[in-house]
Amino acid sequence: MLEIEQKYSAVDHAAVRAALAALGAGGPEVHDETDHYFNAPDRDFARTGEAFRLRRIGAVNLLTYKGPKQPAAVKIRPELEVPLLPGDDAADEYVDLLQRLGYRPVAVVHKRRESFTLQRDGFDVQVCLDAVDDLGSFAEVEVLSEQEHAARAADTLTRLAAELGVSTVEPRSYLTQLLAARATASPRTPRVVETAAELRAALAEATRQRQTVGLVPTMGALHDGHLSLIRAARARNDVVVASIFVNPTQFAPHEDFARYPRPFADDVRLCGEAGVDLVFAPARKTLYPEGYRTYVEVTGLQDVLEGAARPGHFRGVATVVLKLFNLVRPDRAYFGQKDAQQVRIIQQMVRDLDVPVDVVVCPTIREPDGLALSSRNRYLDADQRRQATVLYRAMDAARRLYEAGERDPAALRRAMAEQIATAPAAVVDYAVAVDPDTFEPPARLGDAALLAVAVRVGDTRLIDNLRLGG
Ligand code: AMP
Repeated sequence: MLEIEQKYSAVDHAAVRAALAALGAGGPEVHDETDHYFNAPDRDFARTGEAFRLRRIGAVNLLTYKGPKQPAAVKIRPELEVPLLPGDDAADEYVDLLQRLGYRPVAVVHKRRESFTLQRDGFDVQVCLDAVDDLGSFAEVEVLSEQEHAARAADTLTRLAAELGVSTVEPRSYLTQLLAARATASPRTPRVVETAAELRAALAEATRQRQTVGLVPTMGALHDGHLSLIRAARARNDVVVASIFVNPTQFAPHEDFARYPRPFADDVRLCGEAGVDLVFAPARKTLYPEGYRTYVEVTGLQDVLEGAARPGHFRGVATVVLKLFNLVRPDRAYFGQKDAQQVRIIQQMVRDLDVPVDVVVCPTIREPDGLALSSRNRYLDADQRRQATVLYRAMDAARRLYEAGERDPAALRRAMAEQIATAPAAVVDYAVAVDPDTFEPPARLGDAALLAVAVRVGDTRLIDNLRLGG
């Protein structure tokens, strides 16, 4: 059987009731309906166009699966509806069962439904007037039909709607409308927690409901690069946690730990606008209490490029990231390609230490002139800011050589050095073409390579990178 239906929004229910009475429709039957929608553990129903719900009509419980929509002017989709044992206790047990199987609650749609029935062109047509919480007044016209009569049934529905005086077609399901309304609702202020105990308590409900958690570790001073990570996390997880912690163990004593920007109130606001549910902002002693002794080292990878320039840096990064993983226990963690070596080290750590988290890498966000966004860009004065574009220009020159077939890393290195020399305020720390897996320079570059640059502009050290090929 196919469900063929059309939904109309902004409906004057009194006028449609009168039109239905004039057509001799039976009814109405009036029910309160509560639909608990779930998403699957193995695929995303929002993408596949499927829907799965527990419908509660008084004591009646039904399980409904709706398949993807077929392309048509009206909504046509396969539907399976299975009656369940009645009552509140049974409903609670079904919800528990589904969650144990990995199905996650998405939203609850509550409506008061008046159902009318009438015969048209040999079809049993149902007309429902729905008052939906938070969405408004709707009408649905619906028939169940065999596939071979689907086109005729659709035509019948369209003509009936015209007779009932409803015309504003709403193609979206109530669930989709509710999720869209939620997404555009004014940004919430995320909850801010500082201790491990508060964090655990704040995540307990998500854990109980087997919701997915996405973590975005940051040091704050948020910009669009960070926000792109948060948005990526928002798109795929039920709960989004951003951590804001300027991690002392990844700074050497002479580095900018003390003056690193900490615009905390702005950061929390930006987190809320980008969709963060929970900001974890631990104090130093929360992560490194008196007597702290344990550090993570990803040998080899931690010693080249940034690691050579900043001894101990990656030991501090790997340590704090593993601690954040253990505290938040995210399903997915989001990092920027901007810090390519950091990403590679975290991926290695996750693999080597069997950490159950998906590391998601997001592309580098740049200013229109190519400068990668960085919290440290705010140290630059106007002239330094202009000269800072030399990092991207240098990599762009090397990329052109690589794309023209140059595979000698020294040639790419020279091209970058020459470019950087054109900016008088810029001092090269390194500007190299390396193997993207080892971060070592090979004798000849392969089908994939990584350009990595670190340049001091005035007192500010900037890094960037570009992947080439594969
Ligand atoms: P930070 O606050 O500098 O530790 O950065 C936090 C996260 O944001 C890291 O995963 C960075 O790689 C990422 N990130 C920083 N800048 C950018 C950018 N311009 N584009 C994309 N991701 C970035």
